[in-house]
Amino acid sequence: MKRYDKLYINGQWVTPHGSGYTQIINPATEAAFAEVANADLDDVNAAFAAARAAFPAWSRTTAAERAEWIRKLHAALDKRKDELALAISQSMGCPLEIAKIIQVNCVKAFEKFADRAFEMEKEVRVNNSLVVREAAGVCAFITPWNYPLYQLIGKVAPALATGCTMVIKPSSVTPLQDLIFAEAVAEIGLPAGVFNLITGRGGVLGDAMVTHPEVDVVSFTGSTATGKRIQKLAADSIKRVCLELGGKSPFIITEDAPLEKAVTFGVKDVMINSGQTCIALSRMLVPASRYEEAVQIAKRVAEGLKVGDPMDKDTYMGPMSSMGQRDTVLSYIQKGLDEGAKLVTGGLDYPAGISKGAYVKPTIFRDVNNKMAIAQEEIFGPVICMIPYSDINEAIAIANDSIYGLSSGVWAGTQEAAIAIARQLRTGGCYVNGGDFNYDAPLGGYKQSGNGREWGDFGIHEFYEIKSMQL
Ligand code: NAP
Repeated sequence: MKRYDKLYINGQWVTPHGSGYTQIINPATEAAFAEVANADLDDVNAAFAAARAAFPAWSRTTAAERAEWIRKLHAALDKRKDELALAISQSMGCPLEIAKIIQVNCVKAFEKFADRAFEMEKEVRVNNSLVVREAAGVCAFITPWNYPLYQLIGKVAPALATGCTMVIKPSSVTPLQDLIFAEAVAEIGLPAGVFNLITGRGGVLGDAMVTHPEVDVVSFTGSTATGKRIQKLAADSIKRVCLELGGKSPFIITEDAPLEKAVTFGVKDVMINSGQTCIALSRMLVPASRYEEAVQIAKRVAEGLKVGDPMDKDTYMGPMSSMGQRDTVLSYIQKGLDEGAKLVTGGLDYPAGISKGAYVKPTIFRDVNNKMAIAQEEIFGPVICMIPYSDINEAIAIANDSIYGLSSGVWAGTQEAAIAIARQLRTGGCYVNGGDFNYDAPLGGYKQSGNGREWGDFGIHEFYEIKSMQL
């Protein structure tokens, strides 16, 4: 078993002050394959002290200098893409071949932040004022396990571009890609203290990170419950808090949509990464007149997806990220049954031929009422709720009847018709007629799905202050 016994603080691999290790478990086999050191509060303090000390010089670098560092770091990461995909696949179960795309393609998008560094040099004259941008300061980053590299880069890239310094704590389920990232940081010799990595449990380190006096910006991706707690804790010192939280995204299929294509897209969208995608379109809204047909298509598509070993090239769906997440998903499937929803496919048993590991069958519920818990709460698993509607206004009302507002989808007869519906959805994103994910577009939520935006040109906005000088 590989042991990672160091933290990356102030440009050095250091022995933690904290004690013990967290085991990293392969959810396909339930076996531990690595262990990672637990930081403690002294390590938190050392990491933020380093980030604070590095801030004055780093924030005064030119955009061209920071762009050069981003390009160097991109090149160092690019060499290690296969290693990154393997580390992610082994620790959270995403099939390796799929991980190379959906988990690791974000490395390519990292480089674009080199150009975005120059946004910081934009100055505006407003009458007698000179308005300039300045780095927001020291950042605390806390990330989850479902797309761990994507979530890391979505925060680190804009922070580097704008001149912020940072301390990162990855999920204790999936810290390995962050450790590889830190190795790349060390390899290129990024100035000490700009990037610091601590590992350990959120429940132990989280409060200290989000209340730390040296922190100016907290950026958190994870559950809405933890996000609420963080926002409250950080309020005492008025830190800027950026939250990327949960979702329960609706997918409206209209009467004149190509049903086979639309339902197939919707099922595969949810089942990829075993349903552990914050923007997964987990509520499928179908016109009552086409409901039976849609249910049959969904059943056929779900049952045709290969579930199994993440190392097998043909696998579409691996296990859940952990046995704990499997328990959560199964408890929601039971809750759906108790609430009166009907199983179209899937359910509580292991998939055929599997008897261990964190596997769950691709599951589709029909006869779901939007008021049911399975339609309101984020399950974060391979579970789709199929909800019938009578007219498009009702569909839009159902879609918006959620505490969440992260993403949505619409598939209509024409792109124009779909966009007209998309404009009425209270969500930060919308997938129109099967549109592709775009790393250059901003991602973030309305309502309890969070605030702020990551990625694209908007992704740097959280990381700078605006100063006006009256001349
Ligand atoms: P989580 O339980 O909230 O954990 C997320 C991170 O917070 C982990 O690093 C965790 O550390 C840490 N943490 C736990 N307790 C904490 C505390 N008291 N204070 C500070 N940090 C704490 O969420 P998750 O289950 O890992 O992630 C899944 C959730 O993330 C889903 O709700 C999903 O929708 C959401 N998500 C949102 C987006 C988006 O862009 N909106 C993207 C991806 C995921 P440990 O792992 O060590 O406990």
